[in-house]
Amino acid sequence: MKILSVNAGSSSLKFQMYEMPAEEVLISGVFERIGMEGSLYTIKLNGEKIEKKVELKDHKRAFELLVEELINNKIVDSLDDIAGIGHRIVQGGSYFDKSVVASEEVIEKINELSTLAPLHNPAAITGIRAAQAVVPNALQTVVFDTAFHQTIPEENYLYALPYEWASKYQIRRYGAHGTSHKYISQKMNEILDREDTKLITCHIGNGASISAVLNGKCINTSMGLTPNAGLIMGTRCGDIDATIIPYMMQQLNLSPKEIDTVMNKESGLLGISGVSSDSRDIEAGIKEGNKRCLLAEKMFVRRIVDYIAKYYVELGGCDAIVFTAGIGENSISVRKDVMEALEVLGVKLDDEKNNIRGKVQKISTSDSAIKVYVIPTDEELMIARDTFELMK
Ligand code: ADP
Repeated sequence: MKILSVNAGSSSLKFQMYEMPAEEVLISGVFERIGMEGSLYTIKLNGEKIEKKVELKDHKRAFELLVEELINNKIVDSLDDIAGIGHRIVQGGSYFDKSVVASEEVIEKINELSTLAPLHNPAAITGIRAAQAVVPNALQTVVFDTAFHQTIPEENYLYALPYEWASKYQIRRYGAHGTSHKYISQKMNEILDREDTKLITCHIGNGASISAVLNGKCINTSMGLTPNAGLIMGTRCGDIDATIIPYMMQQLNLSPKEIDTVMNKESGLLGISGVSSDSRDIEAGIKEGNKRCLLAEKMFVRRIVDYIAKYYVELGGCDAIVFTAGIGENSISVRKDVMEALEVLGVKLDDEKNNIRGKVQKISTSDSAIKVYVIPTDEELMIARDTFELMK
């Protein structure tokens, strides 16, 4: 059975097609600059990458071209071979604790939740509508980034603000990267061959979050109402003293939108280093003796360590810490710095084993009190799996 996994942004559309249940990737790609000049798409097939410059006036056009590619490359014989299409949704609010079929009622709810994710939810709906128009017979499903975090207890998801704000204005912790945290925690449990585990899952990419997972269920996560909470990220500040916001709005005469841009796009690694939001540039800067790159890296690592320590206490110990996403999978130095700072908890790094990128590997020594793993994430596969399950 062929299932498409789709991630639609406001001007992009990423896709991956799977043969299920074999979980084999048949083709993948990305449409970029949709509705803009210089639009193009790239597909990956049989280890080859092909780029085509084409006009993409909207997401529907992207879907039409996607289907043409599937047929021309003999991935499918006809549209009817595409059994299901799973769409990634950033914000599911308190309504969705699992993936569901994209009924009109569900789409309406996703639309309502756009106030909490104004850039992402409307774009995802555009993707669903385009898929419905081009592949009407496929089952459309939605997979939420927030769903895995819906098991977080009230004392962890509420903010100490007026109590009614949660019910009246939906002000609470929703978290993000849930599909990734779920994937790596399931994979970790498989490796440990147990379900009754205490895991700390670290999704450290340009966006970054850490979750505490008890017996397969999330009990806390570092992102909040929005992704700009918790860790220091590429361009996001993460946790700060909230009063800085009204204070600096006054000082610089900034609008809410302007201060939001500073905190989301001009802070984090970029804001501190003044060089780049990309951890590779920060690492290069450190090698060249750039002090602000070093400072940015120290702050970045400190915050990760803080959250791991917090969740260690909250979980009452920890069986395994898992690193994933761009930095977690690839940055040997960030992993090393984090693990060395955790030595007090009995964490012991195996330097040789840590010298890897992008593959499943245990990177702690055999006598480490906590096992530490790198597990590459696979959100697209999770979307395909959930869609496959919903077809039954
Ligand atoms: P997102 O999906 O949030 O945009 P990613 O998970 O792709 O982000 O992570 C992007 C980050 O991963 C960047 O900071 C990038 O520098 C980092 N990264 C990717 N490859 C490497 C590498 N080989 N070494 C160090 N960092 C890397």
